Amino acid sequence: MSLAFGRETLAIPGPSMIPDRVLRAMHQPSPDIYDGPLIDLTDRIKADLQAVARTRAEALIYIGNGHAGWEAVLSNLVVPGDRLLALATGRFTKGWVEMAKPFGAAVETLDFGADRGIELAQVEDALRADKDGAIRAVLAVQVDTASSVRNDIAGLRAAIDAAGHPALLLVDCIASLATEVYEMDAWGADVTVAACQKGLMTPPGLAFNFVGPRAYDAAKRASPTGYWDWRIRTRPEVYYLNFYGTAPTHHLFGLAAALDMLLRDEGIEAAWARHDTHAAAVRAAVEAWSAAGDLRCNVRLPAERSNAVTAIRTAPNDADTLRAWTKAQAGVTLGVGIGLDSATAGLANDLFRIGHMGHLSPPMILGTLATVDAGLKALGIAHGAGALDAAAQVVAEAR
Ligand SMILES: *Cc1c(COP(=O)(O)O)cnc(C)c1O
Repeated sequence: MSLAFGRETLAIPGPSMIPDRVLRAMHQPSPDIYDGPLIDLTDRIKADLQAVARTRAEALIYIGNGHAGWEAVLSNLVVPGDRLLALATGRFTKGWVEMAKPFGAAVETLDFGADRGIELAQVEDALRADKDGAIRAVLAVQVDTASSVRNDIAGLRAAIDAAGHPALLLVDCIASLATEVYEMDAWGADVTVAACQKGLMTPPGLAFNFVGPRAYDAAKRASPTGYWDWRIRTRPEVYYLNFYGTAPTHHLFGLAAALDMLLRDEGIEAAWARHDTHAAAVRAAVEAWSAAGDLRCNVRLPAERSNAVTAIRTAPNDADTLRAWTKAQAGVTLGVGIGLDSATAGLANDLFRIGHMGHLSPPMILGTLATVDAGLKALGIAHGAGALDAAAQVVAEAR
């Protein structure tokens, strides 16, 4: 007998739950795209995006998913033969690298495996070894959504500087913007890539590039098509050149509402702290489950576990049966396991993910954890006791 007759819970790492206020903001007729409120709204959104990324670098908005955000960066920066240094801690930097190859980039990848963060000393060594400073850019993700590793971006900039290397720092914050502390300017990132459907609580369809001055200068070498060109979007002569075509009207309405919630109702620092608490509750539950049986956090070091998503290892097949149970019995959709081991792409049946990004309160996250706990019991999957107490304790102690 299924009990799934309340509101469905989407506990995946993007797209995340859409707030009713965002849905309502989108429920309106098509606006004038030449004149009137949409123009001011777009300016406000861009300023709000800068506040979220903590940068003075302008926010450029592309109609597309996160992959479009990646392509925008590559189009503006890479010319054939350019050397890039990619830092892999799961799957997502590798995806970005795959897109860089058709641009003619020569990519060297340092692969740190999928259960730990970037080793900064190794990056520094690799850059020191490049005596001519030929490597144009370093590519990294703040949070790898497949492994749930969080990387130290401020530390990465320090490592590049310690090597005295001129490479640009390009950071994928698609999963982490508004879920993790991120200080684009203070930390010295040259480009930040993001998208709207994770921490920003808006249906998939918008990608963002924040382009710092060094990256903007470096872009003079490449010849992107007008659609991707940073220069056109930074100085649009007419409104439609903000998007090189029709504005994504309803996505803008939704995003403006989401940014209002984030910046004016809550505050970005409070949102970071809320994500930290919810993630800590999830980690406390996993820690308790891991006392017996095979469940455990994929990421080894607590300091490298992300506040956006938690990847949980299980015995073979358990992750799949558990996901099927929570979905059918309780209306809770857990994140699939993206294969992390060796070259096996595709999905993994011994890994699932709990997304804890965006529009989330304690009953939502505790409800998801309780549902997983019930599923483990129903399916006879061995696990330690006390997970829900441990998670509630984290919420109780939040200040
Ligand atoms: C989701 C995600 C992507 C890909 O975004 P799409 O919208 O699926 O194209 C890239 N990088 C990271 C870190 C992500 O979390």
